[in-house]
Amino acid sequence: MGTYTPIEKVRFPCPSFRHVPIHRTLRKTCMATCIWCKGVGLPSALEHIIPESLGCPEDFVLSNGEVCRRCNNGLAHLDQSVVEDFDFLSYMADVPRKKGRPPTIRSRGNVVGTTGPGGREVSINMERYSVNAHDGSTLGPFGRSPRNIDATFEHDGQMAKTSFSVPFGQNPKFVRGIVKIAFSSLVYFLGTDTALAESFNPIRLYVRENKGERRILLTSGTDEGYRNQVWSPWKSESGHYAVTFRLAFVEFCVDLSPRMDLFPELEQKMIEMYGKSGWTSLPIAL
Ligand SMILES: [Zn+2]
Repeated sequence: MGTYTPIEKVRFPCPSFRHVPIHRTLRKTCMATCIWCKGVGLPSALEHIIPESLGCPEDFVLSNGEVCRRCNNGLAHLDQSVVEDFDFLSYMADVPRKKGRPPTIRSRGNVVGTTGPGGREVSINMERYSVNAHDGSTLGPFGRSPRNIDATFEHDGQMAKTSFSVPFGQNPKFVRGIVKIAFSSLVYFLGTDTALAESFNPIRLYVRENKGERRILLTSGTDEGYRNQVWSPWKSESGHYAVTFRLAFVEFCVDLSPRMDLFPELEQKMIEMYGKSGWTSLPIAL
């Protein structure tokens, strides 16, 4: 489920970028500085770079005081929005939630998914009124939330077919959550000293306070396995960084330069590699 593979050959982003040699700082420093608030010597927390509920690889954590306890707690809502958008994928792949709990779907209003001794059970409410789900919980009416699942049911002789679409990446917090994962990965590979540079202050402002605008690129992976994978960061000739990683079936490319300087080049590369429609960027332009 969780593989972390710092391989040299990846498909994107740009060939003009090079992989950065990895200098992981493994020593514990007495006066660690938090990568988010830059507070010094604060009580720290173990930070899972990929949310645990999506199957973070065991050692893919920041455990040397890189993240203070307050920031770890205070930014957890961003991880949660990433987990919620991947809920169907992680549920279908049987990824255990925190503390080994069975996967569930509970944050979409008109859907509940549980995993019991008999396997997976999903209730979807397409009515305009509330109904009871298979587990006794109440399902809200369809159409009240942009996170609702829109399902269609078809009968074809003896067969019943259900198809549905799952809204993804619409919550602005989702993009902040993805940028948070990208920056935490950079810290994992390159260490706190690199991450504390002022050139990353716009990343900190965006993740912590939703200030500034950032965009991310994404494409579906080339294979169908549920897999989390992270590559070491890329550095451009101008000294800016980009990070690529895969969550479940989706590959992300995140420009970590202060003013999105790399983005046009990365976007161009996506067009070259995937055509005009094989990728997308978030937030969706309105
Ligand atoms: Zn902090």
